[in-house]
Amino acid sequence: MKDIPFFNYPAVYKRFEAEFDAIFKDVCSRGAYILQKDLEDFEQELAKFLGVKHAIGVADGTNAIMLGLQACGIGAGDEVIMASHTYIATAAAVKLVGAIPVFADIGEDFMLSAASVSTVVTGKTKAIMPTQLNGRCCNMDELRAVADKHNLLIVEDSAQGLGARYKGDCAGTFGAFGTLSFYPAKVLGCFGDGGAIMTNDDKMATQLRQLRDHGRDENGDVQSWGTNSRLDNLQAAFLKFRLGTYQEDMDRRREIAAKYDTAFSGHSKLYPPKGPSDGENYDVFQNYEMAAEDRDGLREHLLSMGIRSIIQWAGSPVHWFESLGYGQGKFQHLPKTDWFFHRCLMLPMHMALTDEDVDYVIAGVLGYYKNA
Ligand SMILES: *Cc1c(COP(=O)(O)O)cnc(C)c1O
Repeated sequence: MKDIPFFNYPAVYKRFEAEFDAIFKDVCSRGAYILQKDLEDFEQELAKFLGVKHAIGVADGTNAIMLGLQACGIGAGDEVIMASHTYIATAAAVKLVGAIPVFADIGEDFMLSAASVSTVVTGKTKAIMPTQLNGRCCNMDELRAVADKHNLLIVEDSAQGLGARYKGDCAGTFGAFGTLSFYPAKVLGCFGDGGAIMTNDDKMATQLRQLRDHGRDENGDVQSWGTNSRLDNLQAAFLKFRLGTYQEDMDRRREIAAKYDTAFSGHSKLYPPKGPSDGENYDVFQNYEMAAEDRDGLREHLLSMGIRSIIQWAGSPVHWFESLGYGQGKFQHLPKTDWFFHRCLMLPMHMALTDEDVDYVIAGVLGYYKNA
C-alpha cells in the first residue's frame, strides 16, 4: 500500500536543500535580517512577475488583508462582501478592522458568484473581496460589473492565487489591492509565515510600507499609527529563489489537474472543478477541490488505501460557525455553498506527487464508485 500525504512538508525543503542552505548561510553571515536588500529584491521580482506596480512584503496573508483594508479606509460600520467558502482569515481581517463581513454564494465554478453578490449589496457596502481560491481566479468581468454599478472597491484575497490569471491578468492585480500568503503549504511557501500586498497606487504603496513598520517613513519619522508586520529578509531570500523556478510549479500543478480532470469529467457522482485548459482562466491549482456524492464514504475508502484527502476549512464555510454567531441553517441560506460543503473534498496536489501517485489516487476514487 502507498502512503500519499495530502501535503508533503519536508519535501519543500528537500527539493532544493543545497540552494536553501547556501541562501541561509549567505543571508545570516551578512547579518541581513529585517528590511534588507533581499526583501527589496524579492518585492521587485514579485511585482514584475505579477505585472503590478508595487508588491510589499508583510508578516502573513491575514495581515496583508488587514493592512490593505486599513489603507483603503475601510473600518467601523462598513460592509465587505465575500464568499462564505473562504478561509476564516478573510472574514476575520474584515472584522478586526471594525468592518462587517457579508457573505454571498458560490456559482457553478465553486467561486464567488457575482449574481449572488449583487443581492447582498446595501448602502453600507464598501468593497467586494473575492477569494481567488484553490489557485483559481473568479470571473472578474462579472464582479467588476457589479462593483462599478454600485461604486464599490474590488479588493482581493489572493492568498492562494499566485500566478493564476483571468483573461491574461494575474490574481491580486484587479482591484485596489491584492494579497498573498507564503504559508509553507501555499503554492509559493516559505519556512514559516509570510505574506505580501500588491497595489498599483503609489500613494497607497507608501502608506502600506509605513503601516507595516510602526507607521514610520524611510527616515524613521512616525507618520501614522502602524504595526510590526514585516516579511523577514531571510524568508524573502528563500522566496526570491523559489519564484525563479515557479513556472515549473505552475506547469506541474496544471498537469496533475489535467490528469484528475480527464479521469473525473463526466462521472455521474463527481463534480470536478473547471479543467486547466478551460476558457478564460489560467488556474494554478493550489488545491484540487471537487464535489463528490457520498463524500465521507469516498474519503474513508481513500484513507484505507493510504491516500490522505482533506475537507477544506475542517468542513465548515464561514456562515456555519456557531461560535461566531452564525450557524448552519440558522444564519443565512447560501444554497450552492451549503450543497457544496456536504460534498466537497480536496485530493493530494503538491510538487512531490509522482505520476504514479496521481494514477493511484485516480484509481482509488473511481474504484470506490465502481464497487459501491
Ligand atoms: C492562507 C490563507 C489566508 C491567510 O494567510 P496566512 O499567511 O496564513 O495569514 C487568507 N486567505 C486564504 C484564502 C488563505 O488560503
